[in-house]
Amino acid sequence: MRRSFEKITSTVLRTFKSLLTVDLLSTLTVEEKMVRFFVNGYEDHKPGEPLTLDKEEVTAQINDHINNITKRLSPSRKNVDGGLYVGVTGVSYMFYYLSKNPVLSENKSMYLKQALDYLKPALEVSAGDKTSFLLGDAGTYSLATVLYKETGNESSAEMLKTYKSLYTQYLNPKFLKCGGDEFFVGRAGYLAGALWMSRELKTPVFTNEEMYKICDVIVASGKEYSTKHKSPCPLMYHYYNTQYLGAAHGMSFILQILLSIPGYLTYNKTAAQDIKETVEYLASLQTEEGNWPCCMEEVGQPDHKLVHWCHGAPGTIYTMAKAYLVYRDQRYIDAMVKASDLVWERGLLRKGPGICHGVAGNGYVFLLLYRITGDDKYLHRAKMFADFMVSEEFVRDARLPDNPESLYEGTAGTVCFLADLLLPDKAEFPFQDVFSTYSF
Ligand SMILES: [Zn+2]
Repeated sequence: MRRSFEKITSTVLRTFKSLLTVDLLSTLTVEEKMVRFFVNGYEDHKPGEPLTLDKEEVTAQINDHINNITKRLSPSRKNVDGGLYVGVTGVSYMFYYLSKNPVLSENKSMYLKQALDYLKPALEVSAGDKTSFLLGDAGTYSLATVLYKETGNESSAEMLKTYKSLYTQYLNPKFLKCGGDEFFVGRAGYLAGALWMSRELKTPVFTNEEMYKICDVIVASGKEYSTKHKSPCPLMYHYYNTQYLGAAHGMSFILQILLSIPGYLTYNKTAAQDIKETVEYLASLQTEEGNWPCCMEEVGQPDHKLVHWCHGAPGTIYTMAKAYLVYRDQRYIDAMVKASDLVWERGLLRKGPGICHGVAGNGYVFLLLYRITGDDKYLHRAKMFADFMVSEEFVRDARLPDNPESLYEGTAGTVCFLADLLLPDKAEFPFQDVFSTYSF
């Protein structure tokens, strides 16, 4: 985007002035601060201050985004690649998610129709690997199962059968050489899909024992890798030989899923101990500033720059939340509060509005804190992040993501965040529900 020299100069000066007043950011150079995020000029919430949300304005933002998404990303075969993450399946998920929101119920039938339209091409051509939940066809099958059920289409059972037919592949310890345990392409993603479907359908799609078998493989895989690499905690994982810690390809999402499978910690006591120690180890890696290293290879470095859902505090916070709900240990709440303060300071990302590495994904941190603590401060912060996404500064200076309309990188995820702002008690980052106990 071309900008005049004057505009750039005034932005630089304004940003520099604001930076002088922010102590928390002192370990980053001015240049780094300006490259990664906008300075947060909003006032934080004052205790007792009443909160107001202009629902019409938020709804208008949602409608604007939907207009652009449907204009720019057609439900066609050429847009299937990348599945839930950046393909049409993700846009279908957004429409399904909107259809469940009672505040937007007047558009319910339109949302469901759009959800079906955007899913259709993904059932005609493959999005990626069959077994990949976020990047491939497994995600499409799970959404089709739920969406068909919701719309009374009998093919729902067929779709579920297809999803379940993949099951045995995850039991093979060597099923993916690049690292088969994480969220995008691995076992944790498949289990996340199973839990999500069970909750939406209000009936388990696997028996607990079937899910425990996959958990056992995940735990054995983590133990073997940890022993081989002399890791400082009982379970360690890699993705393409990098030991990621965050939500995208890393340990934190794997742990969140192991903590979420109903009854697993009672069923396998040895695994439960390993999981607990590994969660504690992960919590211990939080820095003074509240962030986490991107991967084990960066542990001990003085500064961790990425404040993204995919890498850093905004994704790891879900594991801290789940750990709190399982162990009821105040330390996990403290970790979340610290992470949230960091996100408030450094979370207005220049990378765009998405949920993977964008402003809405970071705004979800506050909605999670709001649901856990009930403190209005967090709702205020979420509102300010939504507000910033329509500010002149953001519209002018934020970068356009590679896939601008997608669920994880683009505005389809932003729409989910805005819809959750209308109903914060039920807010939920896609497939990151920490509250359900999945007992039916
Ligand atoms: Zn990302």
